[in-house]
Amino acid sequence: FSTPAAIDEPISPSIQIDHTELLINGQFVDAASGKTFPTLDPRTGDVIAHVAEGDAEDVNRAVAAARKAFDEGPWPKLTAYERSRIMFRFADLLEKHTEEVATLETWDNGKPYEQAAKIEIPKVVRMFRYYAGWADKIHGLTVPADGQHHVQTLHEPYGVTGLIIPWNFPLLLYSWKVGPALACGNTAVLKTAEQTPLSALYVSKLFHEAGLPPGVLNVVSGFGPTAGAALASHMDVNKLSFTGSTATGKIVLGLASKSNLKPVTLELGGKSPFIVCKDADVDKAVELAHSALFFNQGQCCCAGSRTLVHESIYDEFVEKAKARALKRVVGDPFQMGIEQGPQIDDEQFKKILKYIRSGIESGATLESGGERLGSRGYYIQPTVFSNVQDDMLIAKDEIFGPVQSISKFKDLDEVIQRANATSYGLAAGVFTQNLETANTLTRALRVGTVWINCYDIFDAAIPFGGFKMSGQGREKGIHGLSSYLQVKAVVTPLKDPAW
Ligand code: ADP
Repeated sequence: FSTPAAIDEPISPSIQIDHTELLINGQFVDAASGKTFPTLDPRTGDVIAHVAEGDAEDVNRAVAAARKAFDEGPWPKLTAYERSRIMFRFADLLEKHTEEVATLETWDNGKPYEQAAKIEIPKVVRMFRYYAGWADKIHGLTVPADGQHHVQTLHEPYGVTGLIIPWNFPLLLYSWKVGPALACGNTAVLKTAEQTPLSALYVSKLFHEAGLPPGVLNVVSGFGPTAGAALASHMDVNKLSFTGSTATGKIVLGLASKSNLKPVTLELGGKSPFIVCKDADVDKAVELAHSALFFNQGQCCCAGSRTLVHESIYDEFVEKAKARALKRVVGDPFQMGIEQGPQIDDEQFKKILKYIRSGIESGATLESGGERLGSRGYYIQPTVFSNVQDDMLIAKDEIFGPVQSISKFKDLDEVIQRANATSYGLAAGVFTQNLETANTLTRALRVGTVWINCYDIFDAAIPFGGFKMSGQGREKGIHGLSSYLQVKAVVTPLKDPAW
């Protein structure tokens, strides 16, 4: 791998941390308990800042502020156009601050700065513009019911939404949830991941500068079993949206049902197949399969983590996939030209290395990588396994790291059966020039997204979500919007027969 020297001499980020408190009712405030927790730099494990640690009492305060902003206004009582304009102004402000925001994101998360600044923050901006555009276009229907009644539907916000996000795409997932929730007229309490609390605080302040009234969006940093669980089980939260692991998704759904039966959108884990058919251009397929897995240090719920290659091109594919991984540029994410930074934290780092050992022990062929990189922080060599069998742990579990698992298939029926033989169903990649093959696979795969000859295309308008245990409901696009709206039927008798 290409390892620029900067790994052991981390570049100092050119920004200072202004906000570490909770954001409740438009004010930065300490946690009621006065407690803080450290957020760490994945490049070194050093503390970046101590952040207020919210728990149940703070969640209560935040929900109360959101409740008031919903019930008494101003948020749902502003005109939709006014809400839309505030969101557009926020998007403009965010765009103007791309450098600072991307710097925070890289510092707290470890992702390459260029990826944050050139791909992710622009997508966050785009997402807010997309949903700002929807805010004043939400309308109901008139319904041709039997009998002498005029029937119409009102599409209304739920009220207070609870939004729980993970650490792998802190701001992108902020936009997937805050954007549609607010566009529909809901208010929100956001619980960020304990690994990455910083960027959400920074941008939420910008949102208030853009005119967001106090209480509409509250941000609580803190841990899952305390702050997260308090939000999921809160009796005054009317809708919950969660992104994270399948195991935690089950807990959150349980808390929602045991409390007030709030509806829940879940976006959970995956073990997505990337299927390379016999007619594929091998060089292109290798490149795409590589980025499908290694993007964001392999920390994507939809990572193409099972690379299934037709036997006729398998050997050539493996050689080239190995060569590509060996060329991957790993290093300090603040350096330009870096493709891969460190993993998020020590826990994930150790878990990934354990999976790598399990791959070796279970008999998969280690083609490249397999070790940590450098002596500090959480860097892992881009790792490629070939000869991976379906019953191996590395083929079954979500590794969430830079570990590509390649295996061979003979025909379409077999690959369909194997691709679907998992409790996950988030996404799949299909690489073929043959339309019939593409159509056959697309219809057979039990997943929420099929990318044909592409991967990780995340436009604001494209719905995203999982089949099976990868989740329920959809985010982004019009489907993401409707998950923050409930429908009210309004029935009025007609005096005279309609004509
Ligand atoms: P990961 O394994 O990627 O850290 P998690 O699903 O544990 O994923 O975390 C995703 C989000 O869920 C984080 O914000 C985390 O704090 C939160 N979380 C974790 N445990 C719980 C819980 N018991 N209740 C509510 N939220 C939780």
